[in-house]
Amino acid sequence: TDACLSAIEGASALNAFVHKTPDMAREMAAAADRRIRAGEAAPMTGIPVGIKDVFCVRGVPSQAASRILEGFTPEYESTVTRNLWDAGAVMLGKLNMDEFAMGSTNEASCYGRAVNPWKGAAGEELTPGGSSGGSAAAVAADLCLAATGTDTGGSIRQPAAFTGTVGLRPTYGRVSRWGVIAYASSLDQAGPMTKTVRDAAIMLGAMASCDPQDSTSADHPVPDYESLLSGDIRGKKIGIPREYRIDGLPDEIAALWQIGTDMLREAGAEIVDISLPHTKYALPAYYVIAPAEASSNLARYDGVRYGRRARLGQGDGIVEMYEKTRAEGFGPEVQRRIMIGTYVLSAGFYDAYYNRARKVRALIKRDFDRAHADGIDAILAPTTPSSAFPLGAMDQADPVQMYLQDVFTVTLNLAGLPGISVPVGQDRSGLPLGLQLIGRPFEEGELLNLAFVLE
Ligand code: GLN
Repeated sequence: TDACLSAIEGASALNAFVHKTPDMAREMAAAADRRIRAGEAAPMTGIPVGIKDVFCVRGVPSQAASRILEGFTPEYESTVTRNLWDAGAVMLGKLNMDEFAMGSTNEASCYGRAVNPWKGAAGEELTPGGSSGGSAAAVAADLCLAATGTDTGGSIRQPAAFTGTVGLRPTYGRVSRWGVIAYASSLDQAGPMTKTVRDAAIMLGAMASCDPQDSTSADHPVPDYESLLSGDIRGKKIGIPREYRIDGLPDEIAALWQIGTDMLREAGAEIVDISLPHTKYALPAYYVIAPAEASSNLARYDGVRYGRRARLGQGDGIVEMYEKTRAEGFGPEVQRRIMIGTYVLSAGFYDAYYNRARKVRALIKRDFDRAHADGIDAILAPTTPSSAFPLGAMDQADPVQMYLQDVFTVTLNLAGLPGISVPVGQDRSGLPLGLQLIGRPFEEGELLNLAFVLE
């Protein structure tokens, strides 16, 4: 814990930690020490972790990197962090992210961008990805041993791929969403971001639980994931989806995908070409459904119930109060999503956009169900269409350019499936590249074991 606290002090240029809790960390570390001495250590006892700013931690500012939650200090603890503290983990502080988890570069944060500890070929600063950019940067720079992330449409896996770390998005319902500030409730899921697959197995075991406070939390037993890491994958059927071979896929990504395929084959897995025919509709469906749910979830930030209220002028009434508070409190990307969401949910366009997207979502899920019915245990694909790119590169671009980053990641969120990104190779300039495995529902153990072979 002391080593992490001093590493955090020395790495302020990365802007990964946005709120540090050193007193809490030392107290929790001392308690962990006592537990260890008493012979009561659990696997996470004394392990210093960072927490994405989207998790409510009692007594610690929790803002989801938004100005609108300025001054909000929750009186309650998210179930995930409660589970981690019960397992003996040590809280180092809150980690940077895109505002309300909307983004792929961590540049849409009220705290400013987080920086990737990896540098470009000419020494330029790179994005750590997003939205869990602070989490990924902190793990990659050894500021903590592990971090929490959330993945609504890739926000754990893409930053993991950009920083050479491991990121696991569990099955929808595996981990409680209670106390996690909502983005798109039918897609959100928290998971571990770690240095190794083994660490991800240990941390998922600590985070997961069936929680009566989250009605979508599933009543599935949580196995001892670490004990499932045998490395034996003989006879497993791995699907290679042809629709992920998109136009313009860089050669180095295609080559990496082949390397991963060969590694699994050599370890005894059977490789099968498969088709997920509705893949190309996933991104547009996601960018209808996620903003729709976001516009509804974010309606609660009205200047009354949480956080910040704008300064009002003479004669301003409640409508002006809402308008000014929300105009000042939400950043441009969040405002854009609220407008898209409100539009697709409006009476005149509901059927054309929102309902259509829900139907597409059902077809995407059916593609995966069919693959599973054909005996496919997991699907292997790239995590991202590129390695980490320079900070600022998306500034000039149209927002759709950023949305295209998510082409490989959003499909499994729409289907509620688990996925893991593992660092497998490097691009020409030595930057990390990741591959993702997409698993069957609630088979995170199997997924981790396959990832263990790729690592
Ligand atoms: N980039 C995606 C988005 O902006 C991912 C978000 C996420 O998973 N939280 O919606």
